[in-house]
Amino acid sequence: MSFNWLNDFHREMEKPDNYAEKTLAQYRLGIKAKGSIVGVRIERDQEGCDACQQLDDTAVYHPDDAPHLPLPTCSKGRRCGCVYRPVMSYENP
Ligand SMILES: [Zn+2]
Repeated sequence: MSFNWLNDFHREMEKPDNYAEKTLAQYRLGIKAKGSIVGVRIERDQEGCDACQQLDDTAVYHPDDAPHLPLPTCSKGRRCGCVYRPVMSYENP
Protein backbone atom coordinates (compact mmCIF):
# COMPACT_ATOMS: atom_id res chain seq x y z
CA MET A 1 0.00 0.00 0.00
CA SER A 2 1.34 3.39 -0.91
CA PHE A 3 1.09 6.47 1.23
CA ASN A 4 3.03 8.58 -1.22
CA TRP A 5 0.10 10.80 -2.00
CA LEU A 6 0.24 11.97 1.60
CA ASN A 7 3.87 12.92 1.36
CA ASP A 8 3.25 14.67 -1.92
CA PHE A 9 0.67 16.87 -0.33
CA HIS A 10 1.82 20.45 -0.68
CA ARG A 11 1.17 22.84 2.13
CA GLU A 12 0.35 25.55 -0.37
CA MET A 13 -2.54 23.54 -1.68
CA GLU A 14 -6.01 24.23 -0.54
CA LYS A 15 -7.31 21.29 1.43
CA PRO A 16 -10.18 19.38 -0.08
CA ASP A 17 -13.36 19.35 1.98
CA ASN A 18 -12.73 15.80 3.07
CA TYR A 19 -9.03 16.23 3.85
CA ALA A 20 -9.32 15.13 7.48
CA GLU A 21 -11.71 12.27 6.77
CA LYS A 22 -9.72 10.95 3.84
CA THR A 23 -6.33 11.22 5.49
CA LEU A 24 -7.40 9.78 8.82
CA ALA A 25 -9.18 6.93 7.05
CA GLN A 26 -5.94 6.05 5.29
CA TYR A 27 -4.04 6.03 8.56
CA ARG A 28 -6.75 3.95 10.20
CA LEU A 29 -6.38 1.37 7.43
CA GLY A 30 -2.61 1.44 7.79
CA ILE A 31 -2.86 0.78 11.51
CA LYS A 32 -5.38 -2.01 10.99
CA ALA A 33 -3.13 -3.63 8.41
CA LYS A 34 -0.46 -3.75 11.10
CA GLY A 35 1.92 -1.82 8.94
CA SER A 36 4.47 0.54 10.34
CA ILE A 37 1.96 3.31 10.96
CA VAL A 38 1.12 3.53 14.64
CA GLY A 39 -0.64 6.87 14.81
CA VAL A 40 -0.93 10.37 13.51
CA ARG A 41 0.66 13.61 14.53
CA ILE A 42 0.17 17.17 13.41
CA GLU A 43 2.73 19.22 11.62
CA ARG A 44 1.93 22.83 12.38
CA ASP A 45 1.89 25.60 9.85
CA GLN A 46 4.81 27.72 10.98
CA GLU A 47 3.13 30.85 9.64
CA GLY A 48 -0.20 29.56 10.77
CA CYS A 49 -2.94 31.15 12.73
CA ASP A 50 -3.06 31.48 16.51
CA ALA A 51 -5.40 28.52 16.85
CA CYS A 52 -2.93 26.27 15.04
CA GLN A 53 -0.01 27.39 17.15
CA GLN A 54 -1.85 25.95 20.14
CA LEU A 55 -1.77 22.47 18.61
CA ASP A 56 0.59 20.01 20.22
CA ASP A 57 2.88 18.84 17.45
CA THR A 58 4.52 16.25 19.67
CA ALA A 59 1.30 14.45 20.51
CA VAL A 60 0.59 11.11 18.85
CA TYR A 61 -3.09 10.57 18.19
CA HIS A 62 -5.19 7.65 17.15
CA PRO A 63 -6.96 8.71 13.94
CA ASP A 64 -10.27 8.62 15.83
CA ASP A 65 -9.00 11.14 18.38
CA ALA A 66 -6.97 13.49 16.20
CA PRO A 67 -8.12 17.10 16.00
CA HIS A 68 -9.95 17.88 12.78
CA LEU A 69 -7.82 19.77 10.26
CA PRO A 70 -8.20 22.46 9.30
CA LEU A 71 -9.28 23.55 12.74
CA PRO A 72 -12.80 25.00 12.76
CA THR A 73 -11.29 28.08 14.39
CA CYS A 74 -8.42 28.44 11.90
CA SER A 75 -8.33 31.87 10.29
CA LYS A 76 -6.72 30.44 7.15
CA GLY A 77 -9.42 27.85 6.72
CA ARG A 78 -8.66 25.41 3.96
CA ARG A 79 -5.45 27.24 3.19
CA CYS A 80 -4.12 26.35 6.60
CA GLY A 81 -0.73 24.68 6.28
CA CYS A 82 -1.23 22.34 9.21
CA VAL A 83 -1.11 18.76 7.98
CA TYR A 84 -1.33 15.27 9.37
CA ARG A 85 1.77 13.15 9.34
CA PRO A 86 1.96 9.44 9.97
CA VAL A 87 3.85 8.27 13.02
CA MET A 88 5.84 5.19 12.13
CA SER A 89 6.64 2.46 14.59
CA TYR A 90 10.37 2.82 14.03
CA GLU A 91 10.40 6.45 15.15
CA ASN A 92 8.43 5.61 18.26
CA PRO A 93 10.10 2.75 20.09
ZN1 LIG B 1 -4.40 27.45 10.92
